[in-house]
Amino acid sequence: MPRFGGPTTMMRLPDQPTAEGLDACFIGVPMDIGASNRAGTRHGPRQIRAESVMLRPYNMATGAAPFECMQVADIGDVPINTFDLKKSVDIITAHYHTVLATGCIPLTLGGDHTLTYPVLRAVAERHGPVALIHIDAHADINDDMFGEKIAHGTPFRRAVEDGLLQCDRVFQIGLRGTGYSPEDFNWSRDQGFTVVQAEECWHKSLAPLMAQVRERIGDAPVYLSYDIDSLDPAFAPGTGTQEIGGLTIWQALEIIRGCAGLNLVGCDLVEVSPPYDMAGTTALVAANLLYEMLCVLPKSEAFRLARTKD
Ligand code: MN
Ligand code: MN
Repeated sequence: MPRFGGPTTMMRLPDQPTAEGLDACFIGVPMDIGASNRAGTRHGPRQIRAESVMLRPYNMATGAAPFECMQVADIGDVPINTFDLKKSVDIITAHYHTVLATGCIPLTLGGDHTLTYPVLRAVAERHGPVALIHIDAHADINDDMFGEKIAHGTPFRRAVEDGLLQCDRVFQIGLRGTGYSPEDFNWSRDQGFTVVQAEECWHKSLAPLMAQVRERIGDAPVYLSYDIDSLDPAFAPGTGTQEIGGLTIWQALEIIRGCAGLNLVGCDLVEVSPPYDMAGTTALVAANLLYEMLCVLPKSEAFRLARTKD
């Protein structure tokens, strides 16, 4: 079958209805009803899958071979209620509860960033409060948006309130842009989060930062939430809330590859909006970053290390 033919699953993987028997799975959450500006992320999962067809199984840079040591499939999309955000949030938590009960690690194709809150509820139910690596142009810690507690700008405030996070092991990287007051980022710092603004990342490798992140997080279960708008719009224009002066692709790779060795229990890639992604670049970047996440899951990293020793 040519790469452009056949059903569109992530990386042309087998599809199956549940996570049963899997070490890791890709799941789509086709939603944009939590978005505050440009919408379109409901089309994200399908477009990321479409742009993933050229991904090959072996990681030439790191030596990771995730499919040689893990069972991985695409388990389709979460059937959200696109007319009701609050119902959708509960649908997502229930769906991930079932996935996590099998021991499978979910890699989520978003969808707007609202989805991370219900996913974290299910993750913390299984693992207890988790460490968090959150890459984004925005802190997403608003108390509300237009009076609504559930929206794509509020997930990490809700997560803190619900006790889902180990706040001294939360890192927010890439934050920038214009705000309303210093409080926009300082609320995070007040919770004990480590905030690394984009300007601190400019012109340098993020490998040393990730060494610090790994040291602080240690063996704690950790969730990785990657908002594509953390990247500069030059690299990822297809998203709803762009901010200039962002991270580069190679910094994104350093961040994700720098997660190798951590006890990752779930990952997501959110905010890809295909209607604004004229050349498909944003979805292509997203597909590659999701593959890189798969490559650093604990089983994959253990396999890579064992093989490197031979
Ligand atoms: Mn976000
Ligand atoms: Mn953002």
